[in-house]
Amino acid sequence: MISSFPLMRTASPVPDDQRAAILDAPGFGLHFTDHMAFADWTAEAGWHDRRVQALQPFSVHPGAAVLHYAQEIFEGLKAYRHADGSVWLFRPEINAQRFRRSAERMRLPQLPEQDFLASIEALVRADKPWVPVAAGERSLYLRPFMFAAEAFLGVRPSRRVVYSVIACPSQPYFAPGGVSLWVSTSYTRAAAGGTGAAKCGGNYAASLAAQAEAERHGCDQVLYLDGATEEACIEESGAMNLFLVTARGELVTPALGTILAGVTRDTVLTLASELGLTPVERAVPLAELRAGLADGTVTEVFAAGTAAVITPVTGIKAEGYAFTIGGGEPGKVTSALRELILNIQYGRVADTHGWLRHV
Ligand code: PMP
Repeated sequence: MISSFPLMRTASPVPDDQRAAILDAPGFGLHFTDHMAFADWTAEAGWHDRRVQALQPFSVHPGAAVLHYAQEIFEGLKAYRHADGSVWLFRPEINAQRFRRSAERMRLPQLPEQDFLASIEALVRADKPWVPVAAGERSLYLRPFMFAAEAFLGVRPSRRVVYSVIACPSQPYFAPGGVSLWVSTSYTRAAAGGTGAAKCGGNYAASLAAQAEAERHGCDQVLYLDGATEEACIEESGAMNLFLVTARGELVTPALGTILAGVTRDTVLTLASELGLTPVERAVPLAELRAGLADGTVTEVFAAGTAAVITPVTGIKAEGYAFTIGGGEPGKVTSALRELILNIQYGRVADTHGWLRHV
């Protein structure tokens, strides 16, 4: 099939030995591949000029709306190399659908799902040598994004928009040992009717002050509350959804609404019943988490996201109290889910759900 994103191959790729050195220790979000996918949109012409081209800077007018009003959205997903060398995406259709919902919230144009998938597949094909081997849980992190490019300072939806995909070889965002969370009561991430369920850049700019607060308290990440003064409920972490394992065999996670509908969250909920757990989506009061950690009815806490995979939460700290969870070690359920998801993603067990898409 001829891709709707034709490849204009770079004349100056990163030399093989340099690429090999990067793939050995990629870090996260540090090194970019040779190419990028691109498409332009105008209110008059719709989507056009789709292509994969050499990675290069954009030329952006200083009046471009994104620089002033942050009309921007993005996605994050990974390509995995299997032992036989083949390369696979994990549930990219869900990212395509979430991208459409984020676009709707930020009044950006809708990118058809087939364009989202074709752009990613064309980029991964062009940059296949950049997909690391599975060792060390390495993968190619893909970052589709869309921004308002019209030079106009009035506050209204941009009439020119750029869509692009870039890629970074990556290793897990967090050490497998786990993270500690700071319960912030100074900052919230989202409120009903806000943008918490959209993956828009501004949400992450606003998270930086909260993250700095967490670090001042010796924690790795923030645990956001829903902002209610009475019976505050837990929401999510900076880039991860949260799960509690209970002594009754439930896997409890905050219900959707003001949080991001994580692909990993959905995957965990589906796999939970296969591991004999009961998935529960509902409001989770902070007081309940606190009591559960104190009396042992909450046995494990973990965070789930594309970059984080499944990351154990080994401690929770707040103004006036602190808990170490599971003696600071990853719990059994957390470890089992982590292993199962990685085994599916890297093709080490059968993909009974049809979650993998060959590139
Ligand atoms: N919550 C937030 C705020 C996030 O940014 C992310 C990362 N996309 C997640 C949760 C996890 O979502 P996913 O599993 O799709 O990566």
